[in-house]
Amino acid sequence: MNVPEMFASMVFNDHVMRQMLPKKVYQSLQDTMTEGKALDEDVADIVASAMKEWAIGKGATHFTHWFQPMTGITAEKHDSFLSVDKNGSVIMDFSGKELTKGEPDASSFPSGGLRATFEARGYTAWDPTSYAFIKDGTLCIPTAFCSYTGQILDKKTPLLKSMDAISKEAVRALKLFGKNVKRVNSTVGAEQEYFLIDKNDYKKRLDLRLTGRTLLGAHAAKGQEMEDHYFGSIRPRVKAFMEELDEELWKLGVSAKTEHNEVAPCQHEMAPIFDNANKATDANQLTMEMMKRVAERHGFACLLHEKPFEGINGSGKHNNWALSTDEGENLLDPGKTPKDNAEFMLFLTAIIKAVDDYQDLLRISVASAGNDHRLGANEAPPAIVSIFVGDELERVIDSIIDDKPLEVGRERRHLDIGTSVLPKLARDNSDRNRTSPFAFTGNKFEFRMPGSSFNIACTNVMLNTAVADALKEFSDELEKADDFNSALNALVKRELKQHRRILFNGNGYSKEWEEEAERRGLSNYKRTPDALVHYTDKKNVELFKRHSVYTREEMESREEISLEEYQKAIHIEAMTMLEMLKRQILPAALKFSSFLSSSIDEKKRIDMPSDAESALCRKVSLLSNELLGKIEELEECVDATPSDAKEAAFHAADRIIPLMEDARKVSDSLEAVTDKSFWPIPTYSDILFYV
Ligand code: ADP
Ligand code: MG
Repeated sequence: MNVPEMFASMVFNDHVMRQMLPKKVYQSLQDTMTEGKALDEDVADIVASAMKEWAIGKGATHFTHWFQPMTGITAEKHDSFLSVDKNGSVIMDFSGKELTKGEPDASSFPSGGLRATFEARGYTAWDPTSYAFIKDGTLCIPTAFCSYTGQILDKKTPLLKSMDAISKEAVRALKLFGKNVKRVNSTVGAEQEYFLIDKNDYKKRLDLRLTGRTLLGAHAAKGQEMEDHYFGSIRPRVKAFMEELDEELWKLGVSAKTEHNEVAPCQHEMAPIFDNANKATDANQLTMEMMKRVAERHGFACLLHEKPFEGINGSGKHNNWALSTDEGENLLDPGKTPKDNAEFMLFLTAIIKAVDDYQDLLRISVASAGNDHRLGANEAPPAIVSIFVGDELERVIDSIIDDKPLEVGRERRHLDIGTSVLPKLARDNSDRNRTSPFAFTGNKFEFRMPGSSFNIACTNVMLNTAVADALKEFSDELEKADDFNSALNALVKRELKQHRRILFNGNGYSKEWEEEAERRGLSNYKRTPDALVHYTDKKNVELFKRHSVYTREEMESREEISLEEYQKAIHIEAMTMLEMLKRQILPAALKFSSFLSSSIDEKKRIDMPSDAESALCRKVSLLSNELLGKIEELEECVDATPSDAKEAAFHAADRIIPLMEDARKVSDSLEAVTDKSFWPIPTYSDILFYV
């Protein structure tokens, strides 16, 4: 396999553009890509024609605008290049207009009231900053999706806007240090966790098929307690899957780098090489799609749900995030000189302030019915947002705040930002504090709260915008200063002091932290609706307005969509559970008890002891009765769902979920006493320890 040759062979990237586009066209496209200049129609025509030639050469027959509506997955509508010319002959055609703008019938995508169905028109607009690629014989053109009146209907547009916002403010902040750069990009590497299970088991479970997770199931005799799966040797079947996944991703220009087993049985992880936030988001969307598809070819089902199985770890997605100039300097690298250190401290302080001021937004960006099972469940960071900076950096910060000398080796010295050098910070391995939601790992931050099925755009919108805002405030102040160094020292000290509460290096899983966090006044929104209702808090609306990322209406619509999505997810789970309980579980239990009663009758006739059957039959019958009661309660509760989105979301959280948990307990107890040959669905041990 020639990897360099295969890599990005299906991507219309810079290399291909350079080869296929006239120099002038290439240059003006570059200007659009790097500086956001508008593209003229002539240029678009030439680019479209080159793209078409290239795509047809690779066997493509169709094209699609590939976009990311609020459903969280990517959407596409395929058109063929086929066209009929003036003389009636069939030609393969693709115009600049088709490249730059599409009009999908968008009425069925969630818009949260922004776009009534009767004015369903939305349009997709080419995003030239993410490369087009060929997937399944179709040229996919990454696009943004807006309503006809310009309101944002997708996840990409706000991401691009937030990237512009942070670029603008970071460029401005760098000027204070005498640096002139054109652009600063937020860089992202998203580590993706997933489960692979046998397709046959998957098919037999309605809950997995409809909801992506098991709603019922007694724990297997073995879980993850032996810790024998993490980094363990990979089953040959899984290895074959990983190899093919890598190949498929490489062709699409996704730089899959590491593949390994994770903590839970059947759980694995893929990490790519980081890229700018926009491309990394597209790449992660493609990764999830490819995982599902390649799994299928290997007789697997790939589960991206945050909590497919109770009692063992769920799956997350680590959003590694940093800032990089167009010259390739990573602004989160502490550097070696006093000047680099000063710059680093300013950016670090901005991030600490941003995460503290907008903890709620970060929490909201990872809120979903699925992720509620993870956050705070002693396996993933809690629902409280805090920052881990490592012991050394924490000491540096405290010495600045307290104005006390720092002990460096045997020496004690005063840190004066801008003139003194920071002690060398040992690079923290990201595994050192896995309980922290937001950890500094040497030259980047790792945000570990996102769920495995999430589109990471939202998280990065929050991060970019909040940090942009902190930088803006800092520049507003520092630009006015007469003595930059002393103003910088004062600012960093003041801000670190003010936001010290968000730093926490201890065990994020502990009960004590929850209490301590409450004392510190940090927010702790345990469930999705608790968090979502803060989305449109005044300070948040103002933040996004200040940086032209969202309007109030767009935010209100997003809040409503998310509340609805949450409520619908729970509703589907409840309906699925009811169907399984009524049509599979209860009938199985009744069959088993009837089998036992016949056996009791028979044994009585021949005067044999039937105590075991009687005891078991009693247990099964009592549990069956109890289950019927739970089914009825749950049904009534689902029927009583209010129509208002917010009320319905809280109804789901407060009432439906607890009833589902109760019903599950009874069903799982039944499973534990029912003859396996009567049990109608694959059990946890069947699924998790397949051979
Ligand atoms: P590990 O977490 O195993 O120590 P790394 O820290 O090298 O490995 O990388 C973890 C993830 O972070 C990878 O996806 C990697 O590409 C990404 N990453 C590394 N540097 C950066 C950066 N500057 N910006 C964003 N992501 C990064
Ligand atoms: Mg990690």
